[in-house]
Order: sequence, then structure tokens, then C-alpha cells
Amino acid sequence: MNVPEMFGSMVFNEQVMKERLPEDAYTALKRTIEEGKRLDITLAGVIAEAMKDWAIERGVTHYTHWFQPLTGVTAEKHDSFISPAPEGGVIMEFSGKELVKGESDASSFPSGGLRATFEARGYTAWDPTSYAFIKENTLYIPTAFCSYSGASLDKKTPLMRSMEFLNKQTLRVLKLFGMDDVKKVDTTVGGEQEYFLIDKTKYRLRPDLVYTGRTLFGAMPPKGQEVDRHYYGTIRPRVKAFMKELDEELWKLGVYAKTEHNEAAPSQHELAPIFCSANLATDQNQLIMETMKKVADKHDLTCLLHEKPFLGINGSGKHNNWSISTNTGENLFNPGKEQSPSNNLRFLLFLTAVIKAVDEYQEILRASVASAGNDHRLGASEAPPAIISIYLGEELEAVVESIINGTRLNTTEPSVMGIGVHVLPKLPKDTTDRNRTSPIAFTGNKFEFRMPGSSFSLADPNTVLNTAVARELMAFADELEKSRDIHVDMSKLIKRELIAHKRIIFNGNNYSDEWVKEAERRGLANLRTTDEALKSFIDEKNIKLFTESKIFTESELHSRYSILLENYYKTVHIEAVTMLQMIKKDILPSALKYRMDLAKMIKLTSEIYVGASEADTELLGMLSMLTDKIYAAAERLEKIVANAKTVSGEQDLAYYYRANVLPAMHALRSEADELETYMAKDYLPYPSYGDLIYDV
Ligand code: ADP
Ligand code: MG
Repeated sequence: MNVPEMFGSMVFNEQVMKERLPEDAYTALKRTIEEGKRLDITLAGVIAEAMKDWAIERGVTHYTHWFQPLTGVTAEKHDSFISPAPEGGVIMEFSGKELVKGESDASSFPSGGLRATFEARGYTAWDPTSYAFIKENTLYIPTAFCSYSGASLDKKTPLMRSMEFLNKQTLRVLKLFGMDDVKKVDTTVGGEQEYFLIDKTKYRLRPDLVYTGRTLFGAMPPKGQEVDRHYYGTIRPRVKAFMKELDEELWKLGVYAKTEHNEAAPSQHELAPIFCSANLATDQNQLIMETMKKVADKHDLTCLLHEKPFLGINGSGKHNNWSISTNTGENLFNPGKEQSPSNNLRFLLFLTAVIKAVDEYQEILRASVASAGNDHRLGASEAPPAIISIYLGEELEAVVESIINGTRLNTTEPSVMGIGVHVLPKLPKDTTDRNRTSPIAFTGNKFEFRMPGSSFSLADPNTVLNTAVARELMAFADELEKSRDIHVDMSKLIKRELIAHKRIIFNGNNYSDEWVKEAERRGLANLRTTDEALKSFIDEKNIKLFTESKIFTESELHSRYSILLENYYKTVHIEAVTMLQMIKKDILPSALKYRMDLAKMIKLTSEIYVGASEADTELLGMLSMLTDKIYAAAERLEKIVANAKTVSGEQDLAYYYRANVLPAMHALRSEADELETYMAKDYLPYPSYGDLIYDV
């Protein structure tokens, strides 16, 4: 296998463009990609032609505009290249117009009221900053998706707007440092993807996994993840074969799949790609998730991307590593080797912008990772809690403290340079991942946002991060552009903002109960559940943030809020109904069968002997009691679900499902799981937790 040759072989990338495009088209396209310049339609025609020829040589017959509607997954509609030719033949055609713009029926995609039903048309527009690629017989063209009136109906458009906003404000700040050579900055993102792999045959036997992606019942096996043998353990042959094929498929698509290892829970794994531009990283993460599912299926495995497939066992997240880098190749969160006043100040200024942004916009940041699935994870024992805070590490924390208190750093180096600028100690790049409990950790040269759920699109959290940080940089630039003594004023600003926002910094154990109390004392938000968190989408502060920076219009925000709420209560509804079905169709009938056999046996033995065995009678009694309890709990759940019909309004419905339906589901589950521990193996209706996670 020749990896360099294989890598990107299915991507219409830089190299292919250079080879295949006439020079003027290539230059124009590069300008569009790098500077957002509009592309002339005749040039688009030339590019379309080159793309088509390249694709046809690789066996392609169709093309599709590929987009990311608000469902959170990707959508595509395939058209073939064929076009009628004289005498009944066909030719393969693909025009500039077809490349640039697509029209599609948008009525089945969620719009949250943005698109009136009479206006079903939606448009897709080519995003030249993300490369076209080939999957099977189709050429995929990454696009943005919007309504007839131009309202965004997808996840990519706001992300791209936020990258542009961050670019603009960062350039203003860099000018203050005389960095006029920087023409563009990019948000860089590396999304680490966690997932579970289980046996496909067993998966199919579990209606809960099939319908909801997570187990709604299941008693803990005698061994959970207590022993921690799995983490970074040897990868089993079947999984190894899956990973090999996954890597190859991803490499062909130009995805920099880099690291694969076992995660903390049994049968849990992780894939980490090399970071790239946030826009591309978002597209590539969608490809990673799709490819994982497809390749798993070929290996008779099922890939679970749900945030919490198994109760009592670690859930899966998507760690969002985030930074800003310049077109001159500098990472702005790299504290730098050179200890110059300017470098120190620049790093501290950008760091301060992030600290301030995360503090001021903590609620919407929390909301950007809210979903029914992620609620089971955030605040449980393995994931970060629902409270947002930043971990800086000891060295940086000490710097921040010394700035705030005006004290000396406790090192041999001088802590303040002649002109009043703080010296940065050498920061070790955090490869040890020392604080795994923090929602946002500074890891040496980037921030790792650990709250996004495993099934999330990377678009939402990065849209919020970019916008919030850009908003702070904008205010900094507004203030400092007027300054006459930039070093002094910048130092003052940094000190002032760090004092104002230091409450968001926390280096301790985020899982502890003390932190919950401490965070409350500090006035930090603790939005435990999705229904609470989503309100921040329509909070005045956030409406102002997003509309003023032109990332969302107010109606786009309302639409997203409404779609996410609906998604939440519908998810819980489906789970509740699935539980009831499993109880009635499988769990109670199998308990009945076991009881029947036991009862027959008791009857027989008491006829033959003097009396029945005490153990049998007791077991039968226990099973009957638990069956009664399950029956009662199921009846209660059923009533509560039926009552949802009397609730109206999305926010109230979401609250109702969280406050009433979920607890009733929980009560039912604990009775059923108790029953499972008394059931003989042959009578169990489904593969158990042990079967599912220890047998891949
Ligand atoms: P760690 O071991 O501290 O987690 P890694 O270097 O293994 O650090 O990186 C983890 C993830 O972070 C990878 O996906 C990597 O590509 C990504 N990453 C590294 N540097 C950056 C950066 N400057 N911007 C965004 N992501 C980054
Ligand atoms: Mg990590």
C-alpha cells in the first residue's frame, strides 16, 4: 500500500486543481478560496468541466451538492451527468451553473418556521473552501444551504460567517502589533471522535439500540470499566481490521486520520485526525462518522455514535481542539520560544480574549452542545460537568495570578520586563492531558473544548467559540486602536479583563461536589439539561452578539432554538415509546415464560416430593413481585407520555419531557434491570451488557 499515493486520491484538491485547471481559472479559484472573491461564472464553467473529466476518469456518473441541514447529518441529492445528444445518444455534461448553485425541495428539512410552507424551494451554493470529493460513483460538492429568501438553513453557513468575523477582528488586533504581513487567519480545529463498536447481530436484537441509539435497559455486568484495562490496551484483531480499512477509506477522501486507540470503556475507541481549517474539519468529521458506520457494517460490526449508549459506562464525546493560525504559519496560541515583550503581550491578549469570551458567553457555549443524548453525559462521572470553566494549567495560572495581583512570579526569571510587560515562563505543551475533568482546557498551544457530544456536528460549537472570541477582539481593537502608548494600555486592558473574568478559571477537579458549590458562589451558570440550556439561544445578550456580528439574524436564532427544542422532546418521546414496547413485547413475556416454567416445576415437585424447593418458590415470588412493579411503572410512564398531549409550546413540552417523562423512564428501567439480574440466561429477551461490550 502506498499511502502518499492513496492519500487524497478521491479529492479534487490543490494539487489536482493545479494540474488540471488553466492558469487563470486556477488563480481565480485560489483568490476565491483565500480572499472570498466572487468567482466569474465562465470560470466556474471551466472548473466544472475539469472536475467532471477528473471524476469520469474515476468511474463517476453522478454529482451531488452535499450539505448539512439542521438535522445535524448530511444531505445529498444525486444527479447524473447525462444530457441528451442528437440521435438518441447521451453526453456527459456538468456546467458552471450546476457547480455553483443547486435548487432543491427544502420542505422536508427542518427550518423552524423560517421557510413558509408555500415556499418550499431551498438553494445550495458551492463552498469552494472545502474540496469536492468522490464517494462510490458520485462527485460530492460541499455546499451551503439556504432558503429562497437567503436565510440559512444549515450548519455550515453560520460557521463560515463566524470564521470570517474572527478573521476580520483578529487582523485588526494583529495590526496593533505591526503584523501587517498577515493577510488572513484561520480557525483551526482537530475533532477527536469517540465511538463504540459492537457486534452487528447483537445490535439488531436490541430494539432500543436500533430505534434510539442507546440501551434503555440493561443491568451492569460484574465487571464494568473499573479495572481500566481497555484504555490504550491492545486492539483486538476484528477491531484492528476495521480500523485499517477505516484509515484507508478516510485517507482516500483526504481525511488526515492519525491516531486510533482504545478508549476508557470496553469496546470504546477513538480516532483523532490532524487539525485543519474549521470548515474543512467540520466536513471531514461528517465523513469520518459516515465512513465509520459504513466500514463497521462491512465487518459485521455496528458503530455507535450516541453520547451514552450504556448506562454506568463512559459515554462518547467529540473533543474540539481549537486555535487560530495565520497565513504566515503562526499559531496565535503558541506562547512562543522567543521571549520578546511583543510576543508575550500578544499571547496574553488573545488568551484574555478567550477567557473573557468564555465567561461572558458561557450559557450559549453550553447550549451549543445541548441535546437529549449529551444530557446523559455532561455531569456524569466521566465527562465535563454542565458548568463551563477554563483550565489553564499551573504555569499559566501563575502568570494570570501575578498579573491580577501585581506580584512577582515565583521563578528565577524576572516576571516583569522593563516596560511593564509580563514574562511568560516556558510552557510545556500538555501532552499528558493532566486535567481530564475540565470542559475547556488550554493544552499548550490550543484550547480543547470537551463538551461536544460524539454525534454532534463540529459546526455549532465552533460557530459560538469563533463569534464570542471575535466579539471580544473587536472590543479590544476598538479600544486599543485609539491608544497612544500601546504597550501600557494593552497591559492595563489585560489586567482589567483578567480581574473581571477570572471566575471562569478553575484548575481543580470539575467532577467534585465542591466545585458545583464553588461555581454557584462564583455566579457561573449550571444549565444541567437541554431544555434549560437552549433558552440562551433567545436570550437578549446572545441575540445581540449574533445579530450585531451578522452570524445569525434574530429569526435564524429563533428557528434554531425551536428546532433543537423539538428535537429534544421528540427524542425523549421515541425513547419512552420504545421502552414501553420492549416491556410489553419482550420483557414481561419472557418473565412470564420463566415464571410459568418455574410454577410448573414447583407443582411437579410438590406432587412428587413432600413440598416444593424453597429456592424455587422464593425465586418465583421475587419474579412475580418485580413483574408487578414493572407493570405499575410502565402504566405510570404510559399515562405520563399520554399527558404530553395536554402540554403546548415547545419550551413547555421540552420541560415536561425532562421533568416528568425521563424520571418515569428511569423508574421503569431500574425495576426492569433488577428483574434482569434474577432471570436465567436462556430466558433473557436481549443480549446483555456483558454480551454487547465484552464480545467484539
Ligand atoms: P494532546 O495529546 O494534548 O491531546 P495532540 O497533539 O495529540 O494533543 O492533539 C489532539 C488533537 O488536537 C488532534 O486532533 C490535533 O490535530 C489537534 N490539534 C493540535 N494542534 C492544534 C491546533 N493548533 N489547532 C487545532 N487543533 C489542534
Ligand atoms: Mg484530547
